[in-house]
Amino acid sequence: MTIPVKPPAEAPRYIKLNDADNVAIVANAFGMPAGARFPDGLTLRDYVPQGHKVALTDIAKDQPIVRYGEVIGYAVDDIAAGCWVEESRIRMPTPPSLDGLELATRTPPALPPLEGFTFEGYRNADGTVGTKNILAISTSVQCVAGTLEIALKRIKDELLPKYPNVDDVVAVTHVYGCGVAINAPKSEIPIRTLQNLARHPNYGGEVMVVGLGCEKLSPDRLLPEGKTADHEIMRLQDESLTSFGAMIELIMRMADERLKVLNARQRETCPASDLVVGMQCGGSDAFSGVTANPALGFAADLLVRAGATVMFSEVTEVRDAIHLLTPRAANEQVARDLIREMRWYDDYLDKGGVDRSANTTPGNKKGGLANIVEKALGSSAKSGSSAISGVLAPGERVKEKGLIFAATPASDFVCGTLQLASGMNVHIFTTGRGTPYGLSSVPVIKVATRNELAERWSDLIDVNAGTIATGEATIEDVGWEIFRLILDVASGKTKTCTDKWGLYNQLALFNPAPIT
Ligand code: CA
Repeated sequence: MTIPVKPPAEAPRYIKLNDADNVAIVANAFGMPAGARFPDGLTLRDYVPQGHKVALTDIAKDQPIVRYGEVIGYAVDDIAAGCWVEESRIRMPTPPSLDGLELATRTPPALPPLEGFTFEGYRNADGTVGTKNILAISTSVQCVAGTLEIALKRIKDELLPKYPNVDDVVAVTHVYGCGVAINAPKSEIPIRTLQNLARHPNYGGEVMVVGLGCEKLSPDRLLPEGKTADHEIMRLQDESLTSFGAMIELIMRMADERLKVLNARQRETCPASDLVVGMQCGGSDAFSGVTANPALGFAADLLVRAGATVMFSEVTEVRDAIHLLTPRAANEQVARDLIREMRWYDDYLDKGGVDRSANTTPGNKKGGLANIVEKALGSSAKSGSSAISGVLAPGERVKEKGLIFAATPASDFVCGTLQLASGMNVHIFTTGRGTPYGLSSVPVIKVATRNELAERWSDLIDVNAGTIATGEATIEDVGWEIFRLILDVASGKTKTCTDKWGLYNQLALFNPAPIT
C-alpha cells in the first residue's frame, strides 16, 4: 500500500525589482497567509494575494512607495514592514510634468547588429512584406456592413476553396463614414486609419472598396495611389444594380478577380528587417512588468538589432513613465514628438472629464496593480533598452526602422486596429489576467505573465513568461523564444493559438471627432 505524501508547502517568495524598492510582490500562486516568513526573515502581518505588494520596511505616512525604483505613490497611513500594501493605502502621485523633460539626453548607443535571421514572407510591390495572404474588402460606411456580411459568407463558401494559397477573406467594416463630422480636425485619425488599413501588407495590394453612394466618406478616399475608382469601387446605390442579388453578385465577381491574383503570391526569403512588429498588453497584472513585458522588451531589442521595426503604444500606459522615455529618444525632435502625443492625449482625456487614472480595470487591481503609475512602469518595459527612433500619431503608416512609439489608446482592439493601420505584420500581446483577443489580419502571439494562466489556458497562450518568476527561465531565454517564434509565425510555419481557432475580434476605429 502506498501512503500518499503531502507535498511540502511552497516556501514564501517575493520579487523585488530594484534596490531602491520598499515594496515587493508576493510570487506564490495563491498568495501567502499572515505569519508566513520569507527567507530574509520578513514576516507577513496580513494575508497577501499573489502579485500584491508587501512592505519590505516600515513606511511612514506620506512617505514614497517605491517599485521599479520609481515612486508609485505615497503612504496614506503608517505601513509596517510585512503589511499588505493594498490600493487604498496608496495615494497616487501627479503625472510627470510635460515641461522641462530631458530631451534625448541619454540616447542609448546602437546595439551590435544581429545578422542572418530571415523569414518567409510575401513581398509586395511597395516594398512591404506580408505574413499572411488575405483578401480584404474595405468599406466606406457602416450602411454596407450587413450586405457585405452576406456576400462574405458566400465568398468563403463558394470562392475561397478554389484558391488554396489565400488564407482568408476579411471585411474591414466599421461604424464610421456617415453621421460624422467629416471635416472636424480630429476626423483625420479615423480617415487615415481606414486609408492605411486598405493597403495593409497582408492584403497584397489588391484593393476593393464597397460603398453606399451617398455617404460623407467618399470611397475613393480609401484608394492607394495608382488605383482607379472605376475598377476598385462598387456602390450599392449604383443604378445598374437593380436588386439585392445583383449587389451580392457584383461583390463576388470583384472578389473572384482579386482572389485569382492573390492565389499566385509566393512566399520568399526576407531579412528579419522586413518585420514590423506591434506590441501591446491587455488584462495586465503585477507580473506583467516582471516577466512578460521585460521578456518582450528583450525581444524588441533583438528585433531592433536585426534592423526590424518594432512599435510600442498605449499612451495612458506610458504617460507616467514619460520621464524615462524622452531621454532615450534618438534625437530632440523624437523626444518633442513623444511629448506632443502625451499632451494631445492629456487634452483629449481632460475634455472627457477624466485623466489617465481611468485606465486601470478591476482585473488589473485584482492582479496587484494599485494604480496607473505602477501599470505604466510595467507596461513600458516592453520598449526594451534601445533608442526610440520615431513617433507616429494614431493611424499613421510607419516608415522608419527601429523602436517606434505609435500613439494609440490602450484599449486592446483600438490599439490593435491602429497598429494594423501603421503596417504591423506580426502582433505580440502580453496578458496576466488572460484574454482570448485575436485579429484576423495578422498573427497574434500571446504571452502569459504567470504559469497559472499559461497552464489553465494552454490552448490560448503561445509563450509562457511565468517561468521567469519561478526562476525556471531568464528574461533573455524567454526573449529569444519570442524572437524565434516571431520568425516562425511570420513564415507561416507555426500557427498561433488564435489562428488555430480562428478566434478574432472586430476592428475598432479610434474616432475622437464629433458624431452628428
Ligand atoms: Ca491594451
